[in-house]
Amino acid sequence: MQWEDLKALLLETGSARLSGEAADEFIAKSTAGPGAGGKGSVFFAMGGHRVKLAINQTSRVEIIHRGDGVADLYLGDRQISGRLLRPGLHCPDQAFITVTERCIFSCRYCSVPRLSGKRKTIEEIMDLVESVRHRVSAISLTSGVYDSIEEEENYICEVIDHLKFFGLPLGVSIYPTDQTPDKLHALGVAEVKFNLEAATPDLFEAVCPGLDYELLWRILDRSVELFGKGRVFSNVIVGLGETDEEMEACIDRLTSHGVIPVLRPLNPVAGYAGQSRPSAERLKKLFAKHSRALSRNGLDTSSALTMCTVCGGCDLVPGRDE
Ligand code: SF4
Repeated sequence: MQWEDLKALLLETGSARLSGEAADEFIAKSTAGPGAGGKGSVFFAMGGHRVKLAINQTSRVEIIHRGDGVADLYLGDRQISGRLLRPGLHCPDQAFITVTERCIFSCRYCSVPRLSGKRKTIEEIMDLVESVRHRVSAISLTSGVYDSIEEEENYICEVIDHLKFFGLPLGVSIYPTDQTPDKLHALGVAEVKFNLEAATPDLFEAVCPGLDYELLWRILDRSVELFGKGRVFSNVIVGLGETDEEMEACIDRLTSHGVIPVLRPLNPVAGYAGQSRPSAERLKKLFAKHSRALSRNGLDTSSALTMCTVCGGCDLVPGRDE
């Protein structure tokens, strides 16, 4: 079985039972995004490929840890030998930090508003990066919104100013104001990710009440002007109710604007609890369209330095997963 087929099946499941030797050092905990607040996840790697799976003791996928990261993955009657990756912070090779673990918005797919977590201080963030700096090649930041979008942006800018000390490429994904791309660019941020989340404006309105879809498009265009083609990313969730045609139109529009889409399979939590994840077949079909759209527009994922496109745990990434 090709890696692409295997990863699509694993992403359709999204989870694994973990057994065997103790694996605490290989378990990543998330405090943001759709996986926030769960039992943690592991990154299973085969050669240069990887996939992130949430730990769930009822999953049909099993990973047996043999010790020192060596692991076997079982899916039906298949056995795949590989290894578990040790996360930096949140994901391998990066210090990926959620600055504010709470949010005033209530996007339906996201658990963060329900968690009512705290905001990390600058000192805490510096200490966290320091604790992993010997094994990461990038720093990435994301955040909920503590009080207002403007106040959050100002705090993130302050954090970035301190993080420059480490001399690592910085990626930032926050909810933006009109000023955000310019401010982040002036601070030396390498890459940005502003998430459309939904493939159509109608879906966005239903899923992310109170947020502005058209603003995101303006911000993405301004970001491409400043950061350059291939340095701007946008998550779009697969499985919110969009058709394949709507998703393809969104991929085409993003790539023709110089933005690399990150096609994220729905993790059915919060307002989507109980709903199915997208099928492997659908993920592969969209992956093929995604790959073609990127090459048609001269976009290449291999130059990404930060965040999800370089991590590649949660999605099929053209150029990495073929
Ligand atoms: S792909 Fe993105 S969200 Fe998933 S583990 Fe990697 S950095 Fe985190």
